[in-house]
Amino acid sequence: MQDLEKTVGFMGNFTPSATLAIAAKAKELKAQGLDVVSMSAGEPDFDTPQVIKDACINAINEGKVYYTPASGLVELRKAVADKFNRDNNLNCTFEQIVVAPGAKFSVFSAVAALCGEGDEVIIPAPFWLSYPEMVKGAGATPVTIPTRAENNYELDPAELEAAITDKTRLLILTTPSNPTGAVYRRSTLEKIAEIVMRKNIMVLADEIYEKLVYDADKPHISIGSILPGMENHTITVNGCSKTYSMTGWRIGYLCAPKWLAKKIIAFQSHATSNATTFAQWGAIAAVEGKADEDVAKMRAEFAKRRDLIYDLVSKIDGIKCIRPQGAFYLLCDISSFGMGSEEFCSKLLTEKQMAAIPCWSFGAEGNIRLSYACSEANIRESVKRLAEFCASLKK
Ligand code: PMP
Ligand code: GLU
Repeated sequence: MQDLEKTVGFMGNFTPSATLAIAAKAKELKAQGLDVVSMSAGEPDFDTPQVIKDACINAINEGKVYYTPASGLVELRKAVADKFNRDNNLNCTFEQIVVAPGAKFSVFSAVAALCGEGDEVIIPAPFWLSYPEMVKGAGATPVTIPTRAENNYELDPAELEAAITDKTRLLILTTPSNPTGAVYRRSTLEKIAEIVMRKNIMVLADEIYEKLVYDADKPHISIGSILPGMENHTITVNGCSKTYSMTGWRIGYLCAPKWLAKKIIAFQSHATSNATTFAQWGAIAAVEGKADEDVAKMRAEFAKRRDLIYDLVSKIDGIKCIRPQGAFYLLCDISSFGMGSEEFCSKLLTEKQMAAIPCWSFGAEGNIRLSYACSEANIRESVKRLAEFCASLKK
């Protein structure tokens, strides 16, 4: 008799995403009545702006409840193209835009449409934990390049050049970064773009935290617009989850050269069909800028939280961190405590009921990630518990 449990396909060996698993575990413990504080998932605690909700509710009331094209509503694709042209200088048309159920799926579709068996994908570490899994899921091989805190966690262009082989198809670049909070400088992006074009590979620019940047001297810059011709080598991914506090709506989008957009649309037409129709109508209001005042308020709040958490955590004896410039994460080097990140986070949860993310799965063993997409009170209480825990380890 065959053992059915052993008959897994090439996507059957994934382990669950640690970010989602730990966030779920923290919620479960809370529901059991335990006094748990969490800085685990990267999920803004704000409500979705009303103008976006209204656009979605109106769509439902108007009977907009049917399939849309797999690539998304033309109205949304046009609004996204306008946004990419306005904010990111991508100079694109709506045929290059593909809407998906979440930016996570946009990244996966792009990787799956472009890379397969025998191909290599370069991923600077620390990285968002899903990238290597997606690359492996597509049958390709992830090649990681470590980056350093002293260098603002930016990929060193010379190290990129040295890692490129005939098999390299794609580089994944995240700015602002999850989990480091680093924002790439123009000079580094220019050097990377020059190498990408000369070596004739593609770059997937994950810009989902684009609007969450906090320092005037570190604006967000899109690599797809940085040198003439770079648009032919770039897939720019973005979405509604972080900017508009719409994590549960599941709306992501990308801009790719037309030849690749066509392949991605064909893939999505079999894998998912369209993202939820009325969520797309809500997303149009978001992308057209109708909630920009709310976005500015949320960003101001995140900036305050960034200052608070950096100030509090950098005082903890034994932890090292760099001041994040964007996104809503603080990467903390806990290697001085002489234990792995999994053990550290597991003990922190059991002993202090505080949930944080161990970063071994982010290519950054010896680090934990704190998400400050939560209230000031939650930040203060969580960091207090973390400090107590660290002090107990030093005894
Ligand atoms: N990219 C990065 C870097 C992320 O942190 C996330 C997590 N939300 C995503 C993409 C995916 O976002 P979503 O699927 O919610 O649009
Ligand atoms: N991207 C967020 C995080 O890193 C949400 C969870 C996930 O999709 O991984 O926490």
